Amino acid sequence: MSKPAPGLATPYRSHTCGELRASDAGSESRLAGWVHRRRDLGHLIFLDLRDRYGITQVVIDAETALEAHAVASTLRSEDVVSVDGTISNRLAGTENPKLATGSIELRARAIDVLSRAKQTPFPINDLNAAIEERLRLRYRYLDMRREPVRDRLVLRSKLLRAISEVHHAHGFVEVETPLLIKSTPEGARDFIVPSRQQPGNVYALPQSPQQLKQLLMVAGMDRYFQIAHCMRDEDSRADRGPEFTQLDLEMSFVTADDVMSFVETMAIEVSRAVVPERKIRQVPFPRFTYREALDRFGSDKPDVRYGLELHDLGEIAAGSGFRVFDETAEAGGRIVGLAAPGMAGASRSEIDGLVELARKSGAKGLVHLAVEGDGSVRSPILKFLGDERAARLAAAAGASNGDLVLVVADRDVHAQEALGRVRVELAARLGLVTDASELSYVWVHRFPMYQWDEETNRWDATHNPFSGVLPEDEELLVTSSGDPLRPSPQDPAGRARALQHDLALNGWELGGGSIRIHHRDLLERSFALMGLTVESMQEKFGALLEAFDYGAPPHGGIALGIDRWVARLTDQENIREVMAFPKTGTGSDLMLGAPSAPDPGQLADLGLRFVGVPDRRP
Ligand code: ASP
Repeated sequence: MSKPAPGLATPYRSHTCGELRASDAGSESRLAGWVHRRRDLGHLIFLDLRDRYGITQVVIDAETALEAHAVASTLRSEDVVSVDGTISNRLAGTENPKLATGSIELRARAIDVLSRAKQTPFPINDLNAAIEERLRLRYRYLDMRREPVRDRLVLRSKLLRAISEVHHAHGFVEVETPLLIKSTPEGARDFIVPSRQQPGNVYALPQSPQQLKQLLMVAGMDRYFQIAHCMRDEDSRADRGPEFTQLDLEMSFVTADDVMSFVETMAIEVSRAVVPERKIRQVPFPRFTYREALDRFGSDKPDVRYGLELHDLGEIAAGSGFRVFDETAEAGGRIVGLAAPGMAGASRSEIDGLVELARKSGAKGLVHLAVEGDGSVRSPILKFLGDERAARLAAAAGASNGDLVLVVADRDVHAQEALGRVRVELAARLGLVTDASELSYVWVHRFPMYQWDEETNRWDATHNPFSGVLPEDEELLVTSSGDPLRPSPQDPAGRARALQHDLALNGWELGGGSIRIHHRDLLERSFALMGLTVESMQEKFGALLEAFDYGAPPHGGIALGIDRWVARLTDQENIREVMAFPKTGTGSDLMLGAPSAPDPGQLADLGLRFVGVPDRRP
């Protein structure tokens, strides 16, 4: 428990419940907090009194404090009390080494009951109790009384403080940007807020403060940061919710290297301040181009704490007589494999599980070859490949005797991404992360500028539409047809690389950013490739385009997800565990009961009427 800040003494308490030590024995003290546990031994009652700082044992002896004893005998878990008394050393042999205050106790003279508690819907003092998540979220204020939840929030607060300190030390200005803005695309649906004063019009809640931070650069703020709340109307996953917090920053007169190098310094300083006991695996952080990350790890947020790398088997697999390989090779797709050490003897169901995972990750299938102890290869596709080609494939995948080779054949990155997910699963099964406390930060940069959107038949920004292009790729920002409004998947634009940089930590994407386009004409060219007409550019991004006419510095930045960062630093698999008041997977706040039906008067004020809404509860 960290030392409490000074000035916590109030009329209710002279000290906190985590503060008193043997050296305080003999002094008078008053503590306030929640009854964590009560043990009634007749004339002696023991209370564990808890606050955010810790737990102190209180003893109430009927012989010396009859009135306090009578009060104590009515107390129940989670009642709130303030206790007056004398600190004394515990009797030898009764110290509790697990508590920082375990060598002393407060001998009570008087107890004030400040508030009574009903029986809580789950125990606060039993850390092993299995509690349904919905119940925890419904009573989040009780859940937060529990030590691990509280500790994660305290760590989060430390992280925010460290972030602020490092940015101020590096000349950044903290600027708040509004929540009621106009749509800023980050690839998700906007949450919109109808305007009462301007009926028929809506604000969008920020998916990020992207345009505003760029406008701050045009404004000459030079270096900006903000702990920004962002809202994206998309389905939740373990690492994504409708509402999240990001560290948003932007810098002027910088290259991609400058941004990455500041962010790296910042991430190191913040990690050391918040989790000094955790080692940073590699400094400077390794940098991979997007292509290399996909080729070697099948992921644009690679976990490089273990090898298990992917290998391109295209040359050996092509023309093998196995239809899936041959067709993929002919269509210009990829055939990639990896060798799972010692897994040649994997059971049918283990392999089925991996096939299922590859399918869920978008692959059409997953082929396996087992290299037996004597070097011979066993595989359901052996009859197509033949022994010699099978052996060459296994060797090219890096397999030794006793290994299991897993192969995916599919279109370009689809093959790699699917096998990349299998790689992560295998690493977990095989326990390949040897030091789980290590922090492995990696950069991935030089992403493709655009990805082809099959639904809308046009190019879409891989990161966001403001990202700059590598100078040598600028000439690729064209379509084969010559008309930006008639794009095709074969356009040169598909080969253009963005000045984009993503930071990943232990296999999670923490966030991404880019050097921006700061010239109006180039930005308009890029927008046009994404299917925007001049009118829609003006309507959506008019302010930024116009601002670029008034002298814009070269600039770039990044945004890092605070929830994800804290989740990684506290080893949580779901960001809800590190948010004070998270929403469920379907976007509900179970505690406040949001979203809820609006008051009819509110709708009338806004001139709105819902149509096609299913029956509501009254
Ligand atoms: N606005 C981007 C995002 O929220 C970050 C950035 O480009 O700086 O992902």
